[in-house]
Amino acid sequence: VSVSGSIAAAVVPTETAPLLLNFNENSLGMSAQARQAVIDALPGAFRYPDAAREALIERLAAHYQLKTENITLGNGSSETIQAVIQAAVARAQQQQKKVQLVVPDPTFNYAELYAKPLGAEIVKVPLNAQLAFDLDVMRQKVSGFDGHSIVYLCNPNNPTATITPAVSLEGWIKEAPADTLFIIDEAYAEFVSDPAFKSAVGLVSAGQKNVVVTRTFSKIYALAGLRIGYGIADAALIAETENFVSLDNTNTAGAVAALASLDDKTFVEVSRKSADVSRAIVTKALDELGLEYLPSQANFVFHKVKGEVKIYQDRMKQHHVMVGREFPPALGWSRLTLGTPAEMEAFVRVLKDFREKGWV
Ligand code: PLP
Repeated sequence: VSVSGSIAAAVVPTETAPLLLNFNENSLGMSAQARQAVIDALPGAFRYPDAAREALIERLAAHYQLKTENITLGNGSSETIQAVIQAAVARAQQQQKKVQLVVPDPTFNYAELYAKPLGAEIVKVPLNAQLAFDLDVMRQKVSGFDGHSIVYLCNPNNPTATITPAVSLEGWIKEAPADTLFIIDEAYAEFVSDPAFKSAVGLVSAGQKNVVVTRTFSKIYALAGLRIGYGIADAALIAETENFVSLDNTNTAGAVAALASLDDKTFVEVSRKSADVSRAIVTKALDELGLEYLPSQANFVFHKVKGEVKIYQDRMKQHHVMVGREFPPALGWSRLTLGTPAEMEAFVRVLKDFREKGWV
């Protein structure tokens, strides 16, 4: 039974139609209104996207009760992360200061990928025994550094799907000196139900100047291929970031689809419920099989498999199921994207078959 209450046909993964449970996309596909908005915008897409960009920036500013100066659009939130890092490194260089990027490990690695070629020192702080951020050690790495620090924190974290409670983050951000810049990546925030999570956008609204929150339309809004994301921060920080963003970076299709998606409240609700149903299907099976998993607050689940993750991943692939890779140093854990409930039933059938074979 699907989230809408209708009987969904069983999914059978095949070579030509594999289950794509590897990139944390929204398998429901985009909102019908977003699709229509793209179709309607196509005849005008020979023009530059300025009008659609402006409308989206205004819509986002209104959504967060902020000013348009607090928003920067990105060609996906990846571009925003890249631009923020470039701006922060440039600022340090102008002031002839060293710069480091402090990241938890494992986490989504784009901040690291963009910072490394710019010469920033990369400091990776392993997750603690509960696979949560070791904020005390991260803080020590920052306070003991003679230069500027960029701190990247993904909330909920990828690949663990767990949240970091606002209470443990906000104190540090508020007390940190101006040469410490926080990137809070909230790519999966719309999936969260735990009230201990609070968006860091609230800090920006309260006037905090050393934090950029990144968000995306690639995840719950299912627009990954249209490449649209954004950053929210103090106006001066946004202006600094904009220096490193490519001009006209947002394409018309992405911008109009994002606008339509923000207006389609039902779609977000259905997507969230679908992920909740899918999560319950997976965690029930993991419980039955005695496979440990972390409490997921996103559209993926980080769970243990017995034996080598690479072998498990290859075997899943042979059964036309693509699952995420291993994320060292969290060895023995696999990241599984939550597709539709019918897709997760299909995944569970394969997983249980693997147990019969003694593979998990
Ligand atoms: N941040 C996180 C935590 C992600 O997992 C991803 C994509 O997987 C992104 C950012 C990048 O998303 P996009 O560039 O599509 O907005």
